[in-house]
Amino acid sequence: MKITEIEAFPLNLPMKQNFTISGGSVGDQQKGAPHVYIKITTDDRSQGWGEARPSNRWSYETIESVVSTINHYFKPILLGQNAEDIKNVHKLMNSEIKNGLTIGQPIAKAGIDTALHDLIGKHQKKTISELWFSKPKRSIGLSYLISTRNIQEAVQKANYAFENGYQGIDLKIGFSAGEDLGMVEAVKEAAPDLFFRVDANQGYTLSEAVKVSKGLEKLGVDVFEQPLKANDLLGHAELRRKTYVPIALDESIWTAGDLIQAIRLEACDTAVIKITKMGGLSGAKLCGEIAREANLDLLGGGLTESTLGLTASAHLFNYLGIDRPVDLNGPMFLEDDPVGEGPTIDEGNVLLNNNLHGIGCSIDTQKINRFRVEL
Ligand SMILES: [Mg+2]
Repeated sequence: MKITEIEAFPLNLPMKQNFTISGGSVGDQQKGAPHVYIKITTDDRSQGWGEARPSNRWSYETIESVVSTINHYFKPILLGQNAEDIKNVHKLMNSEIKNGLTIGQPIAKAGIDTALHDLIGKHQKKTISELWFSKPKRSIGLSYLISTRNIQEAVQKANYAFENGYQGIDLKIGFSAGEDLGMVEAVKEAAPDLFFRVDANQGYTLSEAVKVSKGLEKLGVDVFEQPLKANDLLGHAELRRKTYVPIALDESIWTAGDLIQAIRLEACDTAVIKITKMGGLSGAKLCGEIAREANLDLLGGGLTESTLGLTASAHLFNYLGIDRPVDLNGPMFLEDDPVGEGPTIDEGNVLLNNNLHGIGCSIDTQKINRFRVEL
């Protein structure tokens, strides 16, 4: 099966609520959110769809860089290659776009990787899990993401999550060490029994993180995610020695190599697995398996991908046996996306549609055209 065409579709998807992290807005109701859908075709006319969701306030990739990287760097070296040899595809992509401190342009690479998994699954008439010789459960529990600096709004959202069957809450903090604990306390009070993950997105200094962690201990927070800068593994190790709240690393871990460094330095209790930051399903699966073997806890997350990226992630998280509610919240923020048939997403759960092969989503090309933007 030789790759004969790779198409990247830059999309602006409408949002129904704003989404802000400590680095700034990653999408809002006025401007929408940048997504790139990738379609790969082979010489036997098989097709696969993948998704890249760049957030330039979260990492350095943009909608423009994803599309130009795919069109000008990946497409010329991948046309004619065997679609079923994903390892070789990554080798070629990694030689064309080299790493910096860690993998280069993983979000663009993830779009290609997920499209190939989809294509191979459809060609072999298998779901993603079946490609990995496994048959995990079909449903996965979701956590509800709260990103606001308004305590009243945060409490309303926590009440909503509790009343609508969500199994966990993911609260964005890292805005102000002095004020964040007030928000954490109010949310914990509103939804005391849900799994409670707080994510600072690199927002604190070490001394601020130590202070905040003491408050989180008292409030019974389950996990404290990425309090310090991504490259500060020694700082995270120091923080771990000073608190008993489990520390999760997200922006610090992009590759298996990064994860192994974090394990060597005892910098985390938990690894956050995300397919887009890890260059696709291949890299994220490897990281999840290493973290499991190292006896770390796993958290599943996303970069607010639409239904296509969410579904690919849900396959992997089920395969890895992640039983904590996962942070796959794109459709919670999006008004609409180009997926036609796909999983059933009720408030707190994703139920995979295993009658559909590959990732398990059909793509509505009319919607691709409607949401497509010129760069
Ligand atoms: Mg995070």
